[in-house]
Amino acid sequence: MQTQLAPQFQLTAQGQLGESILRKCVHCGFCTATCPTYQLLGDELDGPRGRIYLIKEVLEGATPTQKTQQHLDRCLTCRNCESTCPSGVDYAHLLDVGREIVEKAVPRSFGAQLTRWLLKRGLTSSLFKPAYKVAQTLRPLLPKFVRSKITPQKDPGVWPSAKHLKQALLLEGCVQDAMMPNVNSATARVLNALSVQTIIAPKAQCCGALAHHLNDVSLAHAHIKANIDAWWPWIEQGVAYIVMNASGCGVMVKDYGHLLRHDPLYADKAQRISALTLDIGEVLALEVQALQNLLHPQVLKSLGQAVFHPPCTLQHGQKIKGRVEDTLSALGFALSLPPKEAHLCCGSAGTYSVLEPTLSNALKERKLQNLLDSKPAVILSANVGCISHLQSASTVPVEHWVEWLDAAMTKSQALGA
Ligand code: SF4
Ligand code: SF4
Repeated sequence: MQTQLAPQFQLTAQGQLGESILRKCVHCGFCTATCPTYQLLGDELDGPRGRIYLIKEVLEGATPTQKTQQHLDRCLTCRNCESTCPSGVDYAHLLDVGREIVEKAVPRSFGAQLTRWLLKRGLTSSLFKPAYKVAQTLRPLLPKFVRSKITPQKDPGVWPSAKHLKQALLLEGCVQDAMMPNVNSATARVLNALSVQTIIAPKAQCCGALAHHLNDVSLAHAHIKANIDAWWPWIEQGVAYIVMNASGCGVMVKDYGHLLRHDPLYADKAQRISALTLDIGEVLALEVQALQNLLHPQVLKSLGQAVFHPPCTLQHGQKIKGRVEDTLSALGFALSLPPKEAHLCCGSAGTYSVLEPTLSNALKERKLQNLLDSKPAVILSANVGCISHLQSASTVPVEHWVEWLDAAMTKSQALGA
């Protein structure tokens, strides 16, 4: 698609990036068919092609309206459209460009601003973890709607104390560390069994995704730079990789190189960090043989059938579709066939479930119906947001797949594996 950039965007990095992405789009509309919001709403402007058009118009000088903003807000950033697009259109980065311009041009109501401020400041605050613990204790007394947003307390177990030559940095995650600390300790235990020591850099913080998706570029960049500063000494000491066990954070950290590409101080470091970042699924896919020796066939047999929900940030964002499923199957876990509509978003999408509850809930119900079709004993996934979102309405437990693997390894150890 040819774009005539308006004068105010012609010499800007945003304008040039937007124009180069738009040039690849041939307007075929293949992406529209697989877009969850288009499927729910049936409006071209709530599908990728329509949103691309809206952004093109803004870059060509049209004044964005509240309607423009609403259509862009309704996008889940699931990136399903990228997986479908035959022309390789970099939709997510185009959406960043569009949202940033529209956010500046279209004021939000006081209530909307307050909600967004609370989400990006509250969830990433150091007070979130203690506050969440209080809410977990009071969970049985809370109203149903609030209770559904609070995951039950789980014992994180013991963090391994062994030192190993091979070390990996792990991002605790702002929300995950509070809601599901067991995911981090399970990751550390699994890596420890493979002779890898897990390091948490004390000053690391939110990956920046929350602020980024709420269009607060400067706050997102502040989080990113704080993480780079926190990790850099470890990288200079030679850590093997940075491991991510929340695919929403992983897709963000893998994008640091792009997001800070124009920053004279951080561009190179950001590139290096993105290159060193791996999802735990990528790490463990290379360790199948070693893990097989740590799993007892009797334990694998005793576990029921699991179904895997691949988060969009894993399959469309990080583009490692099937990696976790293949690893679990190779290890001997009973995994049901991919559920119907496995490519579709579950509706969690960061803060989307709070900001767009109707669409989010419709997607959750549809997803759960498909996941529960095979009557699994457990639903496994790879992102804290998806897990808590699905758990809020699921009739079977929803866990991170690393928790499942860690529990099987612990049971196997007791049987002498
Ligand atoms: S599928 Fe790709 S090329 Fe076709 S309209 Fe969608 S983004 Fe454009
Ligand atoms: S990112 Fe997802 S919701 Fe947004 S346009 Fe693409 S497919 Fe639709």
